[in-house]
Amino acid sequence: MSTKSRKDSYLSELNLKETNPLLVSLSHLATRENIPIIQPEGLAFLRQIIRLKAIRTILEIGTAIGYSTIAMASVHPAIRIDSIERNQTLYEKAKAHISDSPYAKQIQLYCADALDFAVAGERTYDLIFIDAAKAQNQKLFEKYEKHLRNDGVMIVDNLLFHDLVHDRPDSRNLRALVRKIDAFNRYLIAREDFDTTIYPIGDGMSLSIKR
Ligand code: SAH
Ligand code: MG
Repeated sequence: MSTKSRKDSYLSELNLKETNPLLVSLSHLATRENIPIIQPEGLAFLRQIIRLKAIRTILEIGTAIGYSTIAMASVHPAIRIDSIERNQTLYEKAKAHISDSPYAKQIQLYCADALDFAVAGERTYDLIFIDAAKAQNQKLFEKYEKHLRNDGVMIVDNLLFHDLVHDRPDSRNLRALVRKIDAFNRYLIAREDFDTTIYPIGDGMSLSIKR
């Protein structure tokens, strides 16, 4: 990962003072246990989108320890989130963090592989946040787009993958992964039924609005 420029340090000092003690402690836990949670700039962006569009229903794919889940729920008490995590250990951790929090009634967790999961009925969400296995972005996008309401927002995280996607990483495995991410980025931009921009925020995030 690249070192922070003075501009980045200046801006994070201004913008990124997290005041919610639960989020501060979960971010420390993630660092200690090496769990990849959303970067502060990415989270700030996500929360502003939620405010701007007055988003109330969210589907999150990839809960990990529940950091982004809790951060989104804390934007407004009327927000309702369904979040899917396939790793049983992480799911249990997220469950504990959420049931101990003031946001328990807003969040429903599911321990499942999102590729197999069935959303109840024809239900649609205002926002779908995809933050799961990076090679599965296109499959997940295609599976869940029907559960996004018209004018709804799809956000996908880690599309620049540690700034490796526009480079050629040394390792063969990484090359295969970044090729997949690059193919998804191009696919996403080419979808004419969504208005999409990919931003260099955090680890790279797309914002797609469904026409
Ligand atoms: N959104 C979290 C971080 C998620 S990390 C945050 O920012 O706080 C990505 C998570 O996605 C991992 O915990 C991984 O187990 C989970 N995951 C990956 N592929 C998945 C899939 N197909 N279905 C459900 N969860 C998945
Ligand atoms: Mg992420």
